[in-house]
Amino acid sequence: MRIGVLALQGDFAEHIDVLRRLGVDAIEVRLPQHLENLDGLIIPGGESTTIGKMARDFDLMTPLQQFGREHALWGTCAGAIFLSKDAHRPQPLLGLMDIVVERNAFGRQVNSFEVDLSIPALRVVEPEARPYHAVFIRAPLIEKVYGEAHSLAALDNGRVVAAQQGHLLATSFHPELTDDDRFHRYFLHLAAQHSS
Ligand code: GLN
Repeated sequence: MRIGVLALQGDFAEHIDVLRRLGVDAIEVRLPQHLENLDGLIIPGGESTTIGKMARDFDLMTPLQQFGREHALWGTCAGAIFLSKDAHRPQPLLGLMDIVVERNAFGRQVNSFEVDLSIPALRVVEPEARPYHAVFIRAPLIEKVYGEAHSLAALDNGRVVAAQQGHLLATSFHPELTDDDRFHRYFLHLAAQHSS
């Protein structure tokens, strides 16, 4: 399995570490040709405006959109914003997922928090249904899930923080910052299903 991590800005190194720990060939993606022969791609957290502008400057927008039509693609936090169709602001978006996001939805006062979530989909990789400890850092909410997308996880107040659309995945939180690698393994499972 060969998985790329978009390495323009943000915490791509942490994703690479988890992938290597899982025995996956992990590749830093900075140029269109780095997408060749990948089974999937992760877009990390960071600053979605910066990631979008850099992707545009490096002529990565169309190659990333084409890649995402056929391959597993997962955006964490800023990466989830970048995958969305609408972030209520003018910024470059891939527009691949039927989700609308609200950036920095938790306000400046409470920039970061951690919470245990119930994520039934993770039983695909581990039958035992233990809570998933999620880390949120200046996180977006997935305000609307429509069309082909569905919710994977929500906070107690019902607000969605993880969504899936076939081989596309979006999480408001940062699975690369904890020791729990179930989300990465879930993504590898999707990538294996969708690689030809
Ligand atoms: N607040 C950032 C944004 O809107 C996302 C933060 C993160 O990726 N941890 O792009």
